[in-house]
Amino acid sequence: MIRFENVDKWFGTLQVLAGISGEVSRGEVKVLVGPSGSGKSTLIRTVTRLEKIQGGRVLVDGADVAARGLDINRLRQRIGFVFQAYNLFPHLSALGNITLGLTKLHGLSKAAARERAMEELARVGLTEKANEMPGLLSGGQRQRVAIARSLAMDPEVMLFDEPTSALDPEMVGEVLAAMKRLAAAGMTMICVTHEIGFAREVADEIWFMETGRVIERGKPAELAGRAAQSRLGAFLQKVG
Ligand code: ATP
Ligand code: MG
Repeated sequence: MIRFENVDKWFGTLQVLAGISGEVSRGEVKVLVGPSGSGKSTLIRTVTRLEKIQGGRVLVDGADVAARGLDINRLRQRIGFVFQAYNLFPHLSALGNITLGLTKLHGLSKAAARERAMEELARVGLTEKANEMPGLLSGGQRQRVAIARSLAMDPEVMLFDEPTSALDPEMVGEVLAAMKRLAAAGMTMICVTHEIGFAREVADEIWFMETGRVIERGKPAELAGRAAQSRLGAFLQKVG
């Protein structure tokens, strides 16, 4: 589904991704962890070409995302992206944030878009907040609207970049719960997160990044088993 082949990325003279390879199969959940500045955000941003790369290839369903003929807007519609800071439109209600893409990009009628948006809001438990403006929602609620908005576009893959790290602790659980349900429903996901409990429970594989490389990867249980000898094991113990 997604394949990284020897990906190199430079910001000026600073190499931030150094020969990263790996695959995310359909229905798989990969969790990226690692210290600040190790390249986690940059790596997932290459998938929708929010970052261009200087070496290697990123393939989505076999298609090179850097290919000249590629319809980048179409690609971005197929891949949902939820960021740390909720990027909702502040002047639109929760419902309006979700219907916008459905009417403008998917060509749904207003009524059909509304119906679809209400389904997605129900899935994240926010039916009663449909008409609320983002400014009047809690951080966790806003982030759930952002997830619902992505899901309404019917993505094949969801990318999450620390979706809970800006939230008050009491809001983290509700967002992780929405992500867990999504994983259980078979969504293909790449999640950058410091929520090690989530990683242990949901990840098919954890990738540990350091200075632009994936220096260790494995299933959560395997990694826990080699905790004593491994960098990732030590990291998991520290943050877990
Ligand atoms: P964090 O956990 O803090 O989010 P990260 O692992 O996501 O870190 P990245 O944001 O991918 O790290 O950054 C990797 C490196 O690239 C860092 O050294 C960062 O300073 C650098 N970097 C990121 N974006 C840019 C940019 N637009 N211009 C220059 N350097 C950048
Ligand atoms: Mg980051």
